[in-house]
Amino acid sequence: MITKHIKPDSLQEAADIIASGGTVIFPTETVYGLGANALDKTAVTKIYKAKGRPADNPLIVHIADVSQLENVARDVPKTAYELFRRYSPGPLTVVLKRKDTIPAEISAGLDTVAVRIPSHPVANSLIKLSGCPIAAPSANLSGRPSPTCYAHVKDEMDGRVDMIIDGGESDIGLESTVVSLAGDEPILLRPGAITLRQLEDVLGRVELSRSIFAEYDGSAASPGMKYRHYAPKAKVVLVKGYDSEVRSFIKSKIRSNEGCGVLCFDGEEEFFCEAVTRSYGIPSEPRTLAHNLFDALRFFDSTPVSVIYARVADGNGIEMAVLNRLIKAAGFTVIEV
Ligand code: AMP
Ligand code: MG
Repeated sequence: MITKHIKPDSLQEAADIIASGGTVIFPTETVYGLGANALDKTAVTKIYKAKGRPADNPLIVHIADVSQLENVARDVPKTAYELFRRYSPGPLTVVLKRKDTIPAEISAGLDTVAVRIPSHPVANSLIKLSGCPIAAPSANLSGRPSPTCYAHVKDEMDGRVDMIIDGGESDIGLESTVVSLAGDEPILLRPGAITLRQLEDVLGRVELSRSIFAEYDGSAASPGMKYRHYAPKAKVVLVKGYDSEVRSFIKSKIRSNEGCGVLCFDGEEEFFCEAVTRSYGIPSEPRTLAHNLFDALRFFDSTPVSVIYARVADGNGIEMAVLNRLIKAAGFTVIEV
């Protein structure tokens, strides 16, 4: 397949592709999405094929504004409207009961649907111009780090979709927060830039899905959580503990092994000078860590390292989302020193 690459000056051609059942990669404020008409079962199937995504990992449906919500979901609770009023358009996905107009393939056969209203002007215009809700997962090959800039999607997805829109860098750099309101109690399925505290402000108590920090045990409400995710080519090992001890531990590993990489904080490179280092920010600025994480993981693919030791910041805000992605990238290999 020949992929057309465009700048987002005119989106009509992209919208026509979506409306006629094709696939378009577009920028959003979280990460790049791989979109198709959410009402067209055949188009939706193309998304799974382009990504190599397992059919049991459901997709998020993107709408332009809350007036389209009842076209895709049914029995929408008041709290969902309140969440969208407070935090949308933006990096929040709400899981609701699925309306029959949305093909079951989108939700991997579940009777629910995940809905988001993106704030990125290109994403928002594309939905409006196409005249349909757009199903879109992150635009990476299944299992790989999500793409946060045009270069990532160009490298990985050229030839796999009809069109790629070059929209520069994603502002947030991590996928949306996913909260389910489809059951009796609200459950946080995936942490993101909308924090647990922000959800609790609207919903009261919010349960944390076990799958956020632990390996899938067959019970997770979000099926996608069981797969290894966000993985660069090298093995990732997450190291947690006090700064000085973590640094000594990683240094000892570098001394005894070749091919080590370190995903570190700014200013730490000197501690790990015999390894390949990439810093992704400082713990006191967790939004920067989130913004840089996936690009940093992809950087190591261009180096010969076979193992990446990763530093991580503590915190209950967006730090939770960064930790979640790193735990998945590490396949749950976490060392506490
Ligand atoms: P991605 O589009 O790559 O950001 O992945 C979408 C995420 O939303 C995955 O973690 C899915 O498991 C989750 N998701 C999508 N639809 C549903 C749903 N109906 N119920 C629960 N989780 C969902
Ligand atoms: Mg994804």
